Amino acid sequence: MHDLLKRIGHRLVTAVYPPGCIACGAAVQDPFGLCATCWAQAGFITGVACDSCGTPLPGHSDGVEHCDTCLRDPPVWSRGRAVLTYEETGKRLILALKHGDRTELARPMGKWLATAGRDLIRPDTLIAPIPLHRLRLLRRRYNQAALLGHALALHTGAEHLPMLLRRTKATPCQNGRDRAARYANLNGALEVRATHCLVPQGRSVLLVDDVMTSGATLTAASRAVLQAGAARVDVLVVARVANDG
Ligand SMILES: [Zn+2]
Ligand SMILES: [Zn+2]
Repeated sequence: MHDLLKRIGHRLVTAVYPPGCIACGAAVQDPFGLCATCWAQAGFITGVACDSCGTPLPGHSDGVEHCDTCLRDPPVWSRGRAVLTYEETGKRLILALKHGDRTELARPMGKWLATAGRDLIRPDTLIAPIPLHRLRLLRRRYNQAALLGHALALHTGAEHLPMLLRRTKATPCQNGRDRAARYANLNGALEVRATHCLVPQGRSVLLVDDVMTSGATLTAASRAVLQAGAARVDVLVVARVANDG
């Protein structure tokens, strides 16, 4: 009976306020969904991708593949997955989540993360979002990565620990810096909170962030959790900025 009432209630609400596409607002069937056009332009990574960083790769493969960058310079984490490429619709959605106060976008993105990262979730997985610096958090009022981590935890049942990591200094904006400069800029800028220093011991840690560009932030975070005794680290992001190969 309760379910029936809920269903009727849902129908009434959607009749009065039909759900809109999360990217363009066009009418859609399901709330928190994309319309067919935005879905097609979202750049979902469905084919072959680098096992380490999630970059889409050309061609077909039945095995594990790596991009040239990861082959040359393997990341410190084990495996990496990305939902979509940081272009067009994907980019607009990330910017809306990050700077546009569209915090509700974390909900569908959490579902996408759960799908893209399904083989990274283990029974002992600890989800740890990349933190913002305290001052940036004050300005933005929320950490988009923590919202994503929370949504992912709801979908997977894995433990979410948004306070595991912290920034040790305010890092200047990363935009416009090349790969080497990004790494130098971030060196040692993340650490496991002293109050949580025993938590990662022997655990599988899954680092979650909105975007991966050079991977410098995720590298610093991986080093921090491995130093704290994590058994393995994997990374999961919504959007992958295509690397230089
Ligand atoms: Zn749309
Ligand atoms: Zn790669």
